Amino acid sequence: MRIIKKIDELRPIIKSWKREGLTIGLVPTMGYLHEGHKSLIDRAVKENDRVVVSDFVNPTQFAPNEDFETYPRDLDADAALCEAAGADVIFNPEPDEMYRDALTFVDMNKITKVLCGKTRPIHFSGVCTVVSKLFNIVTPDRAYFGRKDAQQLCVIKKMVEDLNFDIEIVGCPIVRESDGLAKSSRNTYLNPEERKAALCLSRSLEKGKRLIEGGEESVAAVLDVIKTEINKEPLAETDYAEIVDLKDLSPLVKIKKPLLCAIAVYIGKTRLIDNFIME
Ligand code: AMP
Repeated sequence: MRIIKKIDELRPIIKSWKREGLTIGLVPTMGYLHEGHKSLIDRAVKENDRVVVSDFVNPTQFAPNEDFETYPRDLDADAALCEAAGADVIFNPEPDEMYRDALTFVDMNKITKVLCGKTRPIHFSGVCTVVSKLFNIVTPDRAYFGRKDAQQLCVIKKMVEDLNFDIEIVGCPIVRESDGLAKSSRNTYLNPEERKAALCLSRSLEKGKRLIEGGEESVAAVLDVIKTEINKEPLAETDYAEIVDLKDLSPLVKIKKPLLCAIAVYIGKTRLIDNFIME
């Protein structure tokens, strides 16, 4: 496995793979890899001849008051995980290599303005821009994204459709800790007390899901149960809890599938997200 930091070094490798007729899978990440990322890499290795994992903390998707500087980084550990999983290349550029004096950005309306887009107004423009660039650099056959970031997956699928990228987008299930907490690089910010408090995300979603499975038809009633469960936790503060149409992320009043129930909760200073989908 090779660690590549320059676009001009990666391109000839991609070209030689293409000449051989090999298929390429891309797993975009911000590094500090865990079992959630590994599940994406495992699937990419199974379904493609060659796999590139991008490992890049993308500055354009962070607002100035967010955690770009402090976001955890550990390239050695990431390389060990990728190598063991059978990836062929880690692409780990510096911000300057990706942006230098760039003036072009990819933006999207509507579905980037709801859910996380309300609290993080520039976030999805940064995501769309960096993912477009990675698609153009790696030219993969397939790209793998986790349903942990359900809105991001929806945004990327729409971007691929709108901009005619000839790439199959593969959505992968959420990987959780044994007690239910969705795995996240940001979980490392939590102290032991906050780590316990963070269980209110998965617990509240579980309650909401059971209510829907039991026949509840009112979105307001389900959200009430979810918010009440989060509010029981003194260290938690809800950013949002919403149930939307999975197809276009528009709000629902009555429970109707396919739906996405998504929450973002501050545990102390750490903002965590979680969700469930009902198809
Ligand atoms: P990140 O490094 O947080 O930007 O995540 C890179 C990719 O890994 C995204 O497609 C995420 O949705 C996915 N991912 C992160 N955490 C998980 C998880 N717990 N389960 C499944 N996929 C995940």
